[in-house]
Amino acid sequence: MESTSQEYRRLGMALVGLGEYSTAQLGPALRLTEYCYLAGVVSEEDQKLRKWKNEYNLKQNNLYNYENFDEIKYNPDIDIVYVVLPNALHAEFVMRAATAGKHVICEKPLGIHVDECQAMIATCKKYGVKLSMGYRLHFEPYNMSMMRLGQNKVMGQVKKIIARNSMDIGPADQWRLDAALAGGGPLMNNGIYCVQAAQFIAGELPISVQAEFLPKKDHKKFAEVEEGIRWTMEFPSGCIAECESSYSKNENLLRAEAEHGWFELEPAYEYQGLKGRTSEGALDLPSINQQAAQMDAFAKCIQNGTQSQVPGEMGLRDVEIIMAIYESARTKHKIGLHLEEFTALPEQ
Ligand code: NAD
Repeated sequence: MESTSQEYRRLGMALVGLGEYSTAQLGPALRLTEYCYLAGVVSEEDQKLRKWKNEYNLKQNNLYNYENFDEIKYNPDIDIVYVVLPNALHAEFVMRAATAGKHVICEKPLGIHVDECQAMIATCKKYGVKLSMGYRLHFEPYNMSMMRLGQNKVMGQVKKIIARNSMDIGPADQWRLDAALAGGGPLMNNGIYCVQAAQFIAGELPISVQAEFLPKKDHKKFAEVEEGIRWTMEFPSGCIAECESSYSKNENLLRAEAEHGWFELEPAYEYQGLKGRTSEGALDLPSINQQAAQMDAFAKCIQNGTQSQVPGEMGLRDVEIIMAIYESARTKHKIGLHLEEFTALPEQ
């Protein structure tokens, strides 16, 4: 832990998994954070550890591999472990970090099965550490504005939400197309943002979902995961979210239609360059570093002893919804959901 002022201490963060997201987003964001900083890294590759040590001026003692990772327990420099590995490895590393007494941020999705998500939450509770999701858009001004417009019924009750998040996934040789590591296709990777956005605009939890897989064009590349999926989410107010996510096109839209107007973002889920409009005119909001805001918010929760705005329970709920969407697509039936109350409203 590093002292930078009398008002707060900056918490030390260790990133587990030094792939694209850590390298291009989280590492650079940790140069901008005020309440936490990059103190350590965890990787199987010595070359990567050396590179990060030099780039971020890390202590040799704060570099770990997957075998000696549990020794992080004895390292007072590390307060938070951020798990940025392929989806199927989240559970193991979240639970090892919690067992070592470290607070944890887990990248989305929390896990690839409901059971393992429950085990992760239980382990964090048992060891008295906080578990937060890497849901950066809860800290991004355009998305926060969509949530407020919907939840506060500024244009009346939201009747319909359209959420589409698709990206051309690129080459076949990657873990995102391997069911054992990814747990699913675009729904797990991109569609989860639509699942999130719909709940936070509606301000409610879905009571049912209905889904269909989009026809596969490339059976070889998408042998293990869906190429695309389309689904609806039905909310208690009668609001319906129409969502789609695919690995073979690019789309990035979030739109809400309410009784007296509409509001939308396009692009909606990117790291930068978001654009927003409403039926009353353009939205003009600041562009921020989402990851820095997200990590600082969690560090402040730890300092203040408050709950994360995007806790592990929210990640579990999303995995429950995603599993119901897959079940509906497989069975071609509407699937009812009985989720706990909508408690995780963003601060107004
Ligand atoms: P990546 O493939 O670029 O990096 C994955 C890292 O895991 C690599 O360092 C790799 O060495 C390591 N690894 C360990 N075991 C592995 C295995 N068996 N197979 C493959 N890699 C293995 O992936 P990424 O894009 O950095 O994604 C990592 C996590 O971050 C995923 O859960 C993803 O959903 C999440 N993510 C979140 C966002 C966001 O906006 N919140 C964006 C991108 C990725």
